[in-house]
Amino acid sequence: MEKSISNRFYFDYNATSPLSKKVIDFLGSGDFLFGNPASLHHTGRHSKKLINRTTEYLYKLFGLDKNVFDVVYHSGASEGINAYFKGLAFSAFKEKKKHTFFFCQTDHACVFNLKSDLEALGHEVLYFNVDKNGEFNVDELIALIQKTENPVMNFMAINNETGVVWPWSLAHKIKEETKCLIHVDAVQLVGKVSDWQKLDSSLDAFTFSGHKFGALKGIGFSFIKKGVEISPLIVGGNQQEGRRAGTENALGIHSLKLALEEMEINFSALELKQAIHYLEKHIQSTLGDKGEIVAAKAHAHNLNTLFIVIPGQKAESLSMRFDMEGIDVSTGSACSSGVIKENRVLMAMGYSKEESRSSLRFSFSPFMTLPEAHTYAAAIEKVLKSILKM
Ligand code: PLP
Repeated sequence: MEKSISNRFYFDYNATSPLSKKVIDFLGSGDFLFGNPASLHHTGRHSKKLINRTTEYLYKLFGLDKNVFDVVYHSGASEGINAYFKGLAFSAFKEKKKHTFFFCQTDHACVFNLKSDLEALGHEVLYFNVDKNGEFNVDELIALIQKTENPVMNFMAINNETGVVWPWSLAHKIKEETKCLIHVDAVQLVGKVSDWQKLDSSLDAFTFSGHKFGALKGIGFSFIKKGVEISPLIVGGNQQEGRRAGTENALGIHSLKLALEEMEINFSALELKQAIHYLEKHIQSTLGDKGEIVAAKAHAHNLNTLFIVIPGQKAESLSMRFDMEGIDVSTGSACSSGVIKENRVLMAMGYSKEESRSSLRFSFSPFMTLPEAHTYAAAIEKVLKSILKM
């Protein structure tokens, strides 16, 4: 995909992705799976059958055992993550038990902003920090966790802003040494690292969001280890074994399978790696000493994200310049009035308030090829040069 259908370059795949071709083709077939999967008639059974097929496929694809994990469908990762942490907190509250939640300063807002609700239920929330590369000190964190009651942690496998990858070995070590419950924010995993299907089954939960990898919007799923008490966020009928009430979104659920199948077939980590390396080099040399690529020295970086800071330039005017040239990029934290707030993630990494307001994120398609990267680099260079007056 060199240009999107609106004839623009779309470099905001970490925000959301276009529908996968398999999903578009399925929609084109006219089968919208409208039957209620709880209904006993043929139309309902058809929806139910496709949901079950997706569930079986998810266990197989991600290598998890259905006797150990439940799959829970929801409207997307914000809901899934809220449901996991608030559900744990509420269950513990009912049993007069207290958890200590460990979140990171660079977690997504749907984790970061849970603090007041969890505290209202009597729990403690501690934020751990990262360094300039978006990485944390695992031994320090383990020592801290070991001092607390019933610890629970969010492990952000890939940061949506910076593309920094936290290796599974870190989560594994924390689990082994502390027995802490670990939920993985796996939202940015699919199609963004070479072994995106590989999960660590010693961990306790994983949450994904369909619209990040070509499925429909309004659908996501979590794998949740059985045997841990989690009150449902949404109660009602007994759908999904009572884990999340409400008629299942059969069409959305089926779209997860279609989009993931397409990713399995078409994703080439090797090709994407070549493309992103080319872009990284090209952008860094265009910026020279006037800007930098964030966390360029991190131990592990995903294959689709380049986050840059150009001190002295306002993010809103940077994005406007790209917009006028037909390029969609992200400025990170625009508030509702469109004014750029400081970027919490960058500030946690040690950037100043001003620097954090001078950032821009490019996040590319998982299917980007090297020839496409050449075209993109030229388009980006043209805009950057005009901004930097070179
Ligand atoms: N976690 C991460 C890392 C994300 O990037 C996002 C979305 O940007 C979310 C959670 C929330 O996902 P959703 O849009 O499905 O609510």
